[in-house]
Amino acid sequence: MKEPLKQFVPSTVCLECDGCCRFKESDSDWRPHISPEEIAAVGASGLAAEIFSKHPFSAEGRVQTAGCGAGGEHLCAFFNPADSTCRIYGQRPFDCELYPFVLVRKANKTMVCVHLNCPHIQQTIGTPEYKQYVKYLQGFFQRPETLESLRKNPALAGDYPAYLRELKELFVLSI
Ligand code: SF4
Repeated sequence: MKEPLKQFVPSTVCLECDGCCRFKESDSDWRPHISPEEIAAVGASGLAAEIFSKHPFSAEGRVQTAGCGAGGEHLCAFFNPADSTCRIYGQRPFDCELYPFVLVRKANKTMVCVHLNCPHIQQTIGTPEYKQYVKYLQGFFQRPETLESLRKNPALAGDYPAYLRELKELFVLSI
């Protein structure tokens, strides 16, 4: 899965937004999943290993939160509130790389959805750039190595039962 994914949201936009990497609850369903391979890769680097030793991933394979921001939001253990960056950006979980697109499991199907709460999605949905990116994602999720990785890590697709109205279905995966 480590073929880098092209990003839809420019990093300058992300850095000015206070949505991602911060969660309403410490056990939020929006905390990213992290696969065993990603844990091994991230855990091999010094800083990440140190963070993991203090905040090990949860039993269901999600990153943990550590501390709260000024507004009481729970911060991902890898988030640096000083400059709003990810301290493991180059090795962040696939879930983070994919967002605001989301892997969702629903009615025995695994699908790719878009999270309508993302302000950049609200501004761009339906534009030619957006449609082109969705087409790119469809190609990405047809690659044998991507499908193989998802078959090995079914937990990467979440249920999000409380958030289905925020998630617009884009396409179903053949796994
Ligand atoms: S791992 Fe990095 S990108 Fe993912 S939620 Fe945590 S701080 Fe954000």
